[in-house]
Amino acid sequence: MKIVLLPGDGIGPEVIAEARKVLVRTGEKFGHHFEFESCPIGGNAIDDFGDPLPPQTITACKSADAILLGAVGGPKWDDPNAKTRPEAGLLKIRKELELFANLRPISTYEFLLDSSPLRRDIVAGTDILFVRELTGGIYFGESGLRQEGDQEVAWSTMTYSTSEIERVVRIAAEAARGRRKKLTMVDKANVLEASRLWRRVTARVMKEEFPDIEYDVVLVDAMAMHLISRPTAFDVVVTENLFGDILTDEGSMLPGSMGMLPSASIGSDGPGLFEPIHGSAPDIAGKGIANPLATILAAAMMLRYSLKLETEAAAIEAAVDKVLEAGHRTGDLARGGEKSIGTTEMGDLVVAALG
Ligand code: NAD
Repeated sequence: MKIVLLPGDGIGPEVIAEARKVLVRTGEKFGHHFEFESCPIGGNAIDDFGDPLPPQTITACKSADAILLGAVGGPKWDDPNAKTRPEAGLLKIRKELELFANLRPISTYEFLLDSSPLRRDIVAGTDILFVRELTGGIYFGESGLRQEGDQEVAWSTMTYSTSEIERVVRIAAEAARGRRKKLTMVDKANVLEASRLWRRVTARVMKEEFPDIEYDVVLVDAMAMHLISRPTAFDVVVTENLFGDILTDEGSMLPGSMGMLPSASIGSDGPGLFEPIHGSAPDIAGKGIANPLATILAAAMMLRYSLKLETEAAAIEAAVDKVLEAGHRTGDLARGGEKSIGTTEMGDLVVAALG
């Protein structure tokens, strides 16, 4: 199986190196051969090739079975007048590979519960999988700006087609089948025509293709409240691009640290792209203290969703749990007086926990 690694900038290469070690050990343990190819993306690719996504990276990604990304960006490439920016590489690779569904699991760890901004009794037991539509809606609809007398008038339109909704709902419902068999669709059908289409299409797909999955709908304004008042009530949540962007960021606060959260972007066929949700953390880059667990958990998601290796994915997740239960913490996770370990040490401990 060919895996393209896109280490990127800042702590990206450091955390990718640890995830690679964990994948190599997983391959040895379960009898798979993973072939790795590292390609440039982001700021370093601008420096070396004048392009945040050079053509050779696109070619390698298109022929891969899956792609694991670190993070891109940093102050060096922040000039607003620059010809291109590192983030352009990310947007382009998602578009090139038609990655229309973004999956973000949000679950809590017992040892982090007191770091959550919410009370322990509210947040304990949260285990949500967000599925956000990623390539349609208001971010990609028609938009413009015109002058009307002394006023500027701007508009952005939310556009969705039946097939754009069907394909992401199917991914969410399939995921629910492997979990607690409950799907919540979030919309604003009391106001938006696009949401009313989402509601009709989702109801039909669920009735015809997923009668075994419990299905309900929640308005996005109510969901913003439910997410912090009763997060344990949800299993899989599917929603359109803009609502998903906002709700997943709200959700990422629940566990108490984003150093633990992975994310996946997948399409109908072809390779998926897996990454931690954090950025390139330029403030700690090169210090050997970054937490590699979000990237290691992204590697587990990669095995589950792109390579269909569920047992192997679960083994990595169990190894991470074991290391945390034994009390090992990187600096971002250590609380009052707890000893902290470095990036490489954390990676080595996960490899050892795999057995
Ligand atoms: P960030 O996520 O990089 O960092 C926020 C804070 O969290 C920092 O204090 C950082 O040290 C800490 N942190 C993040 N990841 C950590 C880890 N694994 N271990 C320990 N601590 C960690 O967000 P930012 O500072 O807003 O952005 C920095 C750069 O990253 C910017 O250029 C931004 O555009 C880019 N960025 C990239 C992505 C991506 O590649 N997908 C996502 C977000 C931000």
